[in-house]
Amino acid sequence: MTGDLNPRTKAVHAGTRRSQYGEVSEAVFLTQGFVYDSAEAAEARFIESGPDEFIYARYGNPTVAMFEERIAALEGAEDAFATASGMAAVSGALTSMLKAGDHVVSARALFGSCLYVLEEVLTRFGVEVTFVDGTDLSAWEAAIRPDTRAVFFESISNPTLQVVDITSVSELAHAQGALVVIDNVFATPVWSNAFDQGADVVIYSATKHIDGQGRTLGGVILGSTEFIRKTVEPYMKHTGGSMSPFTAWVMLKGLETMDLRVRAQTATATAIAAALAEHPKLTQLIYPGHASHPQHALVKAQMGQGGTVLSLDIAGGKEAAFRFLNTVRIGLISNNLGDAKTILTHPATTTHQRLPQDQKDALGITDGLVRISVGIEDTDDLVADLGQALAAV
Ligand SMILES: *Cc1c(COP(=O)(O)O)cnc(C)c1O
Repeated sequence: MTGDLNPRTKAVHAGTRRSQYGEVSEAVFLTQGFVYDSAEAAEARFIESGPDEFIYARYGNPTVAMFEERIAALEGAEDAFATASGMAAVSGALTSMLKAGDHVVSARALFGSCLYVLEEVLTRFGVEVTFVDGTDLSAWEAAIRPDTRAVFFESISNPTLQVVDITSVSELAHAQGALVVIDNVFATPVWSNAFDQGADVVIYSATKHIDGQGRTLGGVILGSTEFIRKTVEPYMKHTGGSMSPFTAWVMLKGLETMDLRVRAQTATATAIAAALAEHPKLTQLIYPGHASHPQHALVKAQMGQGGTVLSLDIAGGKEAAFRFLNTVRIGLISNNLGDAKTILTHPATTTHQRLPQDQKDALGITDGLVRISVGIEDTDDLVADLGQALAAV
């Protein structure tokens, strides 16, 4: 029904299933199971379920199916599987496709839990993982081998906002028969063209921009119908990482307004970067959408815009960063991102606290670094607030 329409329209309508009551807002089917008309009907459904036939909420549910269909339509994927969290999506996608003896190449700059899955979990089951600098194409080329089953990276890394060239890495991976698996949170479904650029599997933590209001944890794995239904679904439905119907309903409501939110957040992030780029209290401002970003041309080609997150490296280290955080009035000190509320994070002492100093140094996580996830508040208020907090440093 929505096949030929633009993403903003799909985000509101795609995948809608209406009950006999014709409700406008999607129904939340808070049911774990489904009743069959006869013993024969139950038998038939267990042999093969049709697209609108459900068995058990861990396998699928009408509200969850609406969310899966809508995000797949929006991202331009054939199919999707919704998960209990972003990490259930990352670990489920990788564990379902890999077996002992497989080789994976991954970017080194990863969200801490992603690093744990690749470094600690997969290797324990006999998967070999090689880490590379995600921005260095020659490193990818040297690391990808004929037995490489998959490459994995965050298209924009957290918190230093390095950008991986999806088209080029996909070409290198596909030449060796490897699948391209992307954690695409920072790109957001609004600015992503990852499937057109070569991705085979795209993962979102729906906790971030999809919910967008900090209410629920969720995730989604997007890919071909073959991959989602033959590889991901059997693994997820038997190991228990499926999304709950209530969460799917919250996420559906989030998708309706995501485009408006992300565009507004991106416009404000762009304005903040422009206002603070030359600020004397900063040793560096990192925003993929600002001309000073070393990969600005790649960002333009890959996403068009710089996204909703920027990072400030404040001169004076931890003391200066804490003074800044404690003086900001509007932004909250917390660690989510993509939220309607502006959120400030000090990675070195929180999200990345456990990294050894040499790894912090290698990733550019300095004591002065503050990550700002820009919300939907008034742009002028945010620029003024960040300016007065920098002045106090
Ligand atoms: C938040 C995040 C995750 C994990 O998502 P959860 O929903 O918290 O499990 C994975 N990758 C990236 C890049 C993230 O930002």
